Amino acid sequence: MKGFAMTGPNKVAWIEKEKPKAGPKDAIIKPTALAPCSSDIHTVYEGGVDLGGEIRILGHEAIGIVDSVGSEVTDFKPGDKVIVPAITPDWSAKASQCGFHQHAGCLLGGIQFTTFRDGSMAEYFLVNDADGNLAIQPDDMSDEAALMLTDMVTTGFSGAENANIQIGDTVVVIGIGPVGLCAVAGAKLRGAGRLFAVGSRPNCINIAKEYGTTDIINYREGDIVEQILNETNGEGADAVIIAGGNSETFAQAIQMAKAGSTISNINYYGVQNYEGAGDILPIPRFAWGAGMAHKTITGGLCPGGRLRMEKLINVVEQGRMDPSLLISHRFKGLESVEEALYLMKDKPRDLIKPMVTL
Ligand code: NDP
Ligand code: ZN
Repeated sequence: MKGFAMTGPNKVAWIEKEKPKAGPKDAIIKPTALAPCSSDIHTVYEGGVDLGGEIRILGHEAIGIVDSVGSEVTDFKPGDKVIVPAITPDWSAKASQCGFHQHAGCLLGGIQFTTFRDGSMAEYFLVNDADGNLAIQPDDMSDEAALMLTDMVTTGFSGAENANIQIGDTVVVIGIGPVGLCAVAGAKLRGAGRLFAVGSRPNCINIAKEYGTTDIINYREGDIVEQILNETNGEGADAVIIAGGNSETFAQAIQMAKAGSTISNINYYGVQNYEGAGDILPIPRFAWGAGMAHKTITGGLCPGGRLRMEKLINVVEQGRMDPSLLISHRFKGLESVEEALYLMKDKPRDLIKPMVTL
């Protein structure tokens, strides 16, 4: 079969591979829609994943049709239309039993695609622990919405969940690409009062408003800490979600957060973002109360697995959020994942999220 792979640092290519075979707990999926992710770009072009010379197929955002299942899979059968989360852990791993399935097996071990096995940008791909990791796509759910649940929605929502938002809190979401936009929607669902969104792309700003932002802050028009402090009478935010930017942004988030607040990071600090900062993310000493500010900093990989997808399906089916608004560019045919990936790399101003239909 054909797949679009990372063949080395900064290198991608089409490759031929044998169609995967399902082990006892696995399912083989024929994708029906795919999306590239900013994380694919970090993986290939920013040293995000070291494959140690291996060639691995890219892609972790997919929906599809079950092609075959292993002998121990009980809940799915060939022909089922399924949503495949980006995070597909081994649910019997110790970390999963501790409540941190994202780190099953090792740090970030829940992200199996590309890191440990071939991803979904192929004619077929394998999903481990199928009963724990697949969810049925409801007949009345659009492919656009279903596809966005696999990574964008679960990630953005987890930013809001980890931020411990209380009803009426003042919340800032820094970065309103597709991930940050889902954090905005998640913050609204969690009961945010005033809800700032930091970004500059006009179509992202429109969706941010649609998802419940009350105030837009443009980071290109001045220091965002000053802008947030001015708008909040110098008080700052109860919760800050970081969904874009660099190590300086990380420091700014801490500066605009009140004492007792939570800073929730879902952004990925790749090699490019480290420019000038080395391997250390800065915590500003004064804003950190010289270590005594009661500010909680948390950061997490998005939750995956079947139950998470089923809960997100519930959110969409009840009309609480429409993830299909995130799709700004459409492509047809497996071969166009290449163009979609380059689009994600170049990030034109009108891009939110591309979708490839197969
Ligand atoms: P985008 O590049 O589409 O969005 C980034 C956002 O950050 C844009 O709104 C951009 O503004 C804004 N931004 C850029 N620079 C700054 C700055 N200096 N200060 C403030 N805002 C800034 O990315 P995605 O939404 O696709 O992804 C966001 C991050 O989430 C990525 O790092 C991705 O790897 C990560 N991610 C994390 C996951 C997880 O599980 N934790 C899962 C999936 C993705 P502008 O409007 O000008 O473009
Ligand atoms: Zn992703």
